Amino acid sequence: MYLANRLDSFQESVIREMTRKAIENDAINLSQGMPDFLPPKELISGVEEALMKEEHQYSITYGRTDLREKIAGKLKQYNKMDFNPNDEITITCGASEALTSSIFALMNPGEEIIVLEPWYENYVPITYLAQGKPIFVPLAENSFDIDEERLKASINSKTKAIIINSPHNPTGKVFSLDDLKIIADLCVDNNIVAITDEIYEYIIFDTLSHKSLGSIDSIRDQTITVSGFSKTFSITGWRLGYVAANRKLMDGIRKCHDYLTVCAPSLLQYATLRAFTLGNKYYEDIRKRYQVNRDYLMENLHNHGFKIFKPKGAYYLFADITEFGMNDLEFSNFLVKNKGVAVVPGSSFYSKKRRNHGSRFVRFTFSQKLATLKEAIERIEKKL
Ligand code: PLP
Repeated sequence: MYLANRLDSFQESVIREMTRKAIENDAINLSQGMPDFLPPKELISGVEEALMKEEHQYSITYGRTDLREKIAGKLKQYNKMDFNPNDEITITCGASEALTSSIFALMNPGEEIIVLEPWYENYVPITYLAQGKPIFVPLAENSFDIDEERLKASINSKTKAIIINSPHNPTGKVFSLDDLKIIADLCVDNNIVAITDEIYEYIIFDTLSHKSLGSIDSIRDQTITVSGFSKTFSITGWRLGYVAANRKLMDGIRKCHDYLTVCAPSLLQYATLRAFTLGNKYYEDIRKRYQVNRDYLMENLHNHGFKIFKPKGAYYLFADITEFGMNDLEFSNFLVKNKGVAVVPGSSFYSKKRRNHGSRFVRFTFSQKLATLKEAIERIEKKL
């Protein structure tokens, strides 16, 4: 009776619940996207140095100036976007907080955000907390392509923003430049803000290269670009991300960031400067490592009857389990309790209306060591 009504619109995170079940059942956790190996040694020694260097107090609210400058350099070189580190970039507590501050900065009660379905689970609760309304637009059935007509039809006078995530969680879909141009044109024509979540921008496979929505000139000033260090540098627990946007949008985002967090952890901001000393080889190695993982897990799950959409980026496999005659919840519970492997039920990436559709899938992460994936496959293969 004391709690706000808006909390009724969503439940606790299914992914983190699966992590708890994994611990309870001593299972291999292929549910939450986090590595089971150490981050680069340069970052670890950066923390040691930060501890001795009096990096123990609040940093500037928007993040260390030198780190923002490094991020501006990376955005220019890798993402082909120009942002002023002084007033167009903010360092946040993970990409999660970058998304939260951005959505809080945009929404008036009852305004709408378009979310492509399936989606990364944080977008929807944040929208409700900001008193906005998520409008779900399904991606195409098997290809997970953008359905331009459906997208157009979902826009109305209350539409404030659209969230696009590429490489995509949970499917591993990478949207092409043509897809991004569709979004850019729709946003420009209808005066809508695009929030682009590019947290997996360096985990991209085969011959693909990452494209940033904000690099399309026409939409630069109405795009909020979110990324971070969690996935690229295997430091999901450090909680360091960032957001880049034109100055007017950034003014609002910074107000929210300031009162939500004061600042991102100072020690870890200092240590993360070291990420910028790593050369191209680091990025090539991380791609190769995850591509080997993808190929291993895909092939072995395929051999056991899973139908899998081939991910082109991120570190997830979205596997169709129709073959096994169980829905996603039954299957995930069976797997964690009887086989000792935790995965995420697919319906948690879908709205109530399309939950049945999602219950055909489970999501595996391949963010772990290859040896961990091999053990998971051995466990799955073991007769009960
Ligand atoms: N965006 C997507 C698509 C994710 O999958 C995740 C984490 O799994 C995040 C954002 C959150 O990233 P961070 O750890 O930087 O908060």
